[in-house]
Amino acid sequence: PVALYIVPTPIGNLQDMSPRAVEVLEQVALIACEDTRHSGKLLKHFGISTRTTALHDHNERARAQWIVEQLASGHAVALISDAGTPLISDPGYHLVTHVRAEGYNVVPLPGPCAAITALSASGLPSDRFSFEGFLPSKEKARLDKLTELKEDPHTLIFYESPHRIAYSLEAIAKVLGEDRQIVMAREVTKTFETFLTGGAAEVLERVKADDNQQKGEIVLMCHGFIATDEEGIPAVAMETLKLLSEELP
Ligand code: SAM
Repeated sequence: PVALYIVPTPIGNLQDMSPRAVEVLEQVALIACEDTRHSGKLLKHFGISTRTTALHDHNERARAQWIVEQLASGHAVALISDAGTPLISDPGYHLVTHVRAEGYNVVPLPGPCAAITALSASGLPSDRFSFEGFLPSKEKARLDKLTELKEDPHTLIFYESPHRIAYSLEAIAKVLGEDRQIVMAREVTKTFETFLTGGAAEVLERVKADDNQQKGEIVLMCHGFIATDEEGIPAVAMETLKLLSEELP
């Protein structure tokens, strides 16, 4: 059926491509790719010969109208990004909004996403979390952003580039505190998959001491803020104590 299909692709391990993703990409008339050359390799690997077109941050608004015209003439379209789920720190938002506004169906396929995959193995609270994408690259903006998040009780998830990881860890240690619990997931689903855990200052030291930790793709996660009283006792512990003491003779 005519629709815009949102199709996740592997974040490092080709085996993570779902059979349904392959089928949809084979059957649509057109695949909008963040980078046609990059995706060409993936499509070739799966023997998919569907026509492709580029849709990236710089042409997305103009392209969206053209894609709606394709849908109007009865052609189903799929959207993929370089890796993982489109729209998650990747292009697609304007396209999906426009296609919906024009009254066409948008059909999502579930699949790889670095943030969710990393979180699931992090050992950090996963009942509530906040996906923050990339921290700003300018130092002032980065510190402001972290200040805004300082007392957020939810697990924080960031995407990070290898050449900025040390700066970000430094900023996190400075603003969120040296002891804030960190999980750094690197090269998830790939050969050199690594999880580094510890306080912010400790993880920073380990990253600085080992160049290999500054390579590849990284998801950085921070434990949420734990409110404490003046004596450092978590507010939740005090509440439990209060409830218990009401029950005691
Ligand atoms: N749309 C993608 C998704 O669903 O995960 C994310 C695209 S974003 C432009 C790329 C960032 O995702 C990388 O800089 C890195 O922070 C993270 N990332 C992607 N693949 C990863 C992997 N295999 N291991 C760790 N982080 C990864």
